[in-house]
Amino acid sequence: MAAPSRRLFGTNGVRGVVNRELTPEFVLLLTEAIGTFFGRSKILVGWDGRTSSPILSDLVASGLMSAGCTVYELGMAPTPAVQYLAKAGGFNGAVMVTASHNPPEYNGIKVMDFTGVEIPPEGELAIEKIYFKKQMALRDWNSLGEKLPAQDRLEAYRRAIMERVDQDVIRRSRFKVVVDAANGVGSLTTPYLCRELGCEVVTINSHIDGTFPGRLPEPTPANLDSLCRTVRSVGADVGVAHDGDADRAIFVDEKGQVHWGDMSFALIAEHYLKQGGGREVVTPVSSSQVIEDIASKYGGKVVWTPVGSPYVSRTMIARGAGLGGEENGGIFYAPHIPVRDGGMATALMLEVMATAGERLSTLTDRLPRYFNIKDKVPCPSRLKSRVLRQVKKEAEGYRVETTDGLKIWHRDRSWILIRPSGTEPVYRLFAEARSKEEAERLSSRYKAVISRAVKRNVRRS
Ligand code: MG
Repeated sequence: MAAPSRRLFGTNGVRGVVNRELTPEFVLLLTEAIGTFFGRSKILVGWDGRTSSPILSDLVASGLMSAGCTVYELGMAPTPAVQYLAKAGGFNGAVMVTASHNPPEYNGIKVMDFTGVEIPPEGELAIEKIYFKKQMALRDWNSLGEKLPAQDRLEAYRRAIMERVDQDVIRRSRFKVVVDAANGVGSLTTPYLCRELGCEVVTINSHIDGTFPGRLPEPTPANLDSLCRTVRSVGADVGVAHDGDADRAIFVDEKGQVHWGDMSFALIAEHYLKQGGGREVVTPVSSSQVIEDIASKYGGKVVWTPVGSPYVSRTMIARGAGLGGEENGGIFYAPHIPVRDGGMATALMLEVMATAGERLSTLTDRLPRYFNIKDKVPCPSRLKSRVLRQVKKEAEGYRVETTDGLKIWHRDRSWILIRPSGTEPVYRLFAEARSKEEAERLSSRYKAVISRAVKRNVRRS
């Protein structure tokens, strides 16, 4: 299932630092290539709240129109809203200007097809070919694309989410919710969505500001101190933190404890399987076994994918699976749209809490407990595949899976995932075990194995 190698597109579109990798000239040529790929068609364009998004979205519109596409400008919107509206509005595709959770100096271009899902790797390769071979088909003056407004559609997106949950049971619970939108586009939808679901809403970091003055756009526990404090001080039932483009949601319980994405996914999966929503749940190999425990308890089945949200979406579509999730807080709900959606995740979590009639901390306490360690080891990109082969040899005797990188299983269901980063010269390590000590032991053992292999190969090359 590994993607053929692409030169511009990464796991989630084309990303880079603005005016360094992502220069205006490059973005214009790239979107001329994207427009050529789509041909004469209706393309929805949205953007996040980054300082560079107004510049890039104008370039995107210009590139698409010069290739004959009609551009419908949605304006600032969460990525999942653009994806849902691309599908529901009968567009041929969509382009989103966003760098998701990356630091403020980054931005990116994400391309979706008429289903609202990221175009497959073959499509990305086709766009790259047009770009590198300079085969952009620019139109004459009398067949250029137009630019039309497509604002005021965010309400339709919110309504679509609300239709997928039990609104009455949520409204009866009269939850108090704190929303931390990371000064990003989630502030345009999630606070309103929660209010429409009968919640009392407190917001923090919810004015859009591309300098991200409140916190960095990645909702890691280290960035969520003020959310945790606010949840406790206002006596909220739950806090929700988005990344910069609101396709991810991380939840904080009423005690102010952050629960990482695979725990909230486990709760949503439990609810989904119990309610007879479907049998299969889809998740990348980096997720906790807690998903497997929950699935087997309710007669469900976990389908494991490589790491990256497009893999989860495509696997869900191919298998007709209804629910997917990622350890980073991505929840994919196919009845709405099989892409990760922070607003949909929030509504589902409210439904889980309301249906159970219990506090979020009680629900998470009941889940099987595992300990996770994340780490990384430097490794020059050119040595990555050679090093991985040598590490695999050292894991002889253990069960090894190769869905993505190496997943090595040790005793008592502890495991370590070793995968090359697609963007940095490092190996990423994810270890999980029943105790913190065992997870740390696994992580440092393989860290040492990789470092030794890197050193050997550096000396040789
Ligand atoms: Mg994102």
